[in-house]
Amino acid sequence: MPTILVVEDEPVLLETLEYNLKREGYRVLTATDGRAAMETFRRERPDLVVLDVMLPDIDGFEVCRILRRETTVPILMLTARTDEVDKVVGLEVGADDYVTKPFSMRELLARVKALLRRGRMLREELAAERVAGRERLVFGDLVIDDASRTVHLRGEPVPLKPKEYDLLLFLARHRGIVLSRELILERVWGWDFIGGSRTVDVHIRWLREKLEDDPTNPTRIVTVRGVGYRFEG
Ligand code: CA
Repeated sequence: MPTILVVEDEPVLLETLEYNLKREGYRVLTATDGRAAMETFRRERPDLVVLDVMLPDIDGFEVCRILRRETTVPILMLTARTDEVDKVVGLEVGADDYVTKPFSMRELLARVKALLRRGRMLREELAAERVAGRERLVFGDLVIDDASRTVHLRGEPVPLKPKEYDLLLFLARHRGIVLSRELILERVWGWDFIGGSRTVDVHIRWLREKLEDDPTNPTRIVTVRGVGYRFEG
C-alpha cells in the first residue's frame, strides 16, 4: 500500500484530502507546514508528496526544491493562483505535476494514481532487466548495455569516459524524473567527492556532445532550470 504525505495548512482541505486518499486505500501522513513536511518525509520516506504552495513557514516551492535535492519522489503541487502555476510550469521547481485550486477530488486522485503508477513501472522495468542478468536500456536508437558498459547510438559505439558512462546510466535509470545536481553528484560521484555541482554540468555537456543531434538544443538530456536535469530517452 503506497504511503502519501499531504502537506496543507487549511484544516478542512487537509481533512478532505486525507479522507479521500485513505478511502482509495493509501496510507496517509499529514503535515501542516514546510518544516514538519521535511521532517516527516525524511523519517517516513513516503511514495508520493502532495504539496500546497502556500504554507505558513517555508513555502511549497522551497520545500519542493529542498526535497528534490535529496530524492526522486513524485511531487504533486497544489496551486491557487495563475502566477503560482506559471512558477511550477515555467521556472520549474522540480515538481512532477500540479492541480489548481479549486480542483475536483476525482482529478486529484487520478493524478496521484498516474504518478504512483509511473514510479512503479520504472521500478518494475528496472527490476525485470536486472533479473534477466544483464541490464540493457534501450531508448530508440540509443542502447546502453550495462553488462559490457557500452553505449551504442544508431548502431555505432559511443566512446565514453567512466564517469560519463556512470552519469548516463544514472540518468537513464531515472528516465522522466527531475534529478537535481546535488542528487546526481551524490549518487554518481559519491559523498566524499570534492568539487562543486559544476562538475555535473561539465559532464552533461560532454554527454550531449556525444549523444545529441544538436548539443545546443538537447532533446535527450534536458535542463530543468534552477534544479538540474531530466533524461527523456
Ligand atoms: Ca495552504
